[in-house]
Amino acid sequence: MGQLIPLTPAELDELSDQFAWALSTRETPVIVPGEAILGIEAIAAGVAARGRTILNIVTGPYGEQFGDWLSRGGSHVVELRTPYDDVVAVAAVAEAIERHHPCAVAFVQGEAVTGGSNPTQALLDLARQNNLITIVDAVSAIGAEPVLMDEWAMDFVAVGAQKALSGSNGISAVGISARGWEFLSRNASAPRHSALSLLDLKRASGEAEPVPANIPVLEARAVIKAFHQIQTEGIASVNHRHQLAAASTLAGIKSLGLKAWQRQESACSPLVTTVRLRQGEPIIRQSRGILAPGDGELYGKLLRVNHFGSQASLKSVEKAIGTLAGLLNAAQPEVAIHAVRKVWLASNDS
Ligand SMILES: *Cc1c(COP(=O)(O)O)cnc(C)c1O
Repeated sequence: MGQLIPLTPAELDELSDQFAWALSTRETPVIVPGEAILGIEAIAAGVAARGRTILNIVTGPYGEQFGDWLSRGGSHVVELRTPYDDVVAVAAVAEAIERHHPCAVAFVQGEAVTGGSNPTQALLDLARQNNLITIVDAVSAIGAEPVLMDEWAMDFVAVGAQKALSGSNGISAVGISARGWEFLSRNASAPRHSALSLLDLKRASGEAEPVPANIPVLEARAVIKAFHQIQTEGIASVNHRHQLAAASTLAGIKSLGLKAWQRQESACSPLVTTVRLRQGEPIIRQSRGILAPGDGELYGKLLRVNHFGSQASLKSVEKAIGTLAGLLNAAQPEVAIHAVRKVWLASNDS
């Protein structure tokens, strides 16, 4: 029986370099020995403190959870909420900053549950003008849309490999800027000797440190391998493939007489397309291929087309639209398939 060979320092360095590459950062990301939600909770635990006012933008369920964790840590949380079929308006954020004088702002870049993409670059510009610490959940953005940590001045950015990067979800990363590290270390209530401690997870650079025992070895190797494929394809082309999947799915659903759940077409996420359902018509109760019913309170209101990772392909989108056409008893399903194909092939030529 083969014994599991422990992860080597060289492998951990490679994984860390790969996440840094995906984030376009010169910083060394923290490798989180668990799924992305652990890194997100660790950010909340590390930044939250009595006396800190944090603006938390809620455009979906992950943002709501993040706010609860910030409150648990004693922060004064100012919540700016949108209905889940819309993304946040930059002007509303500017107004909230002016009114509440937060020291940090948090938001989700791309929402897998609602299918919206927030205006990330504009939000980060605004935050920088106001000298705020920025916290971004980019788990569902990374690979599907650009996440330029250094150029856009993100201070904390949580990512995982299991969505657009076609990797495993057992290991994830948090990118942290120098300002972000300072914000953590200045916080007397930031956890230490805890699974939620980013300060504990920081690796000293330049030293041959042993690999932490809690790193899941198989997941780490699976993610390293997934990154090899992504690096061969190129991140811009992975982004492009997701954009095409979203644009062609939108064309397909429109051809079937449906529309996007998101109010603004320009805010539709390249990771997942959410489809608005007529009142009380769930269409599906369980996932069918990449078609999935709405989560929680969104059940019966929308359905999701999960065209991400290896499913961000013409074939997968055609199949999903074909299935949807069948579920709707569409008279001419081939017309919808043709609409999908037309968008995919036209954009590919340009
Ligand atoms: C999927 C997702 C997560 C959670 O990632 P896990 O690794 O599955 O815990 C967090 N935030 C957002 C926006 C996501 O879409």
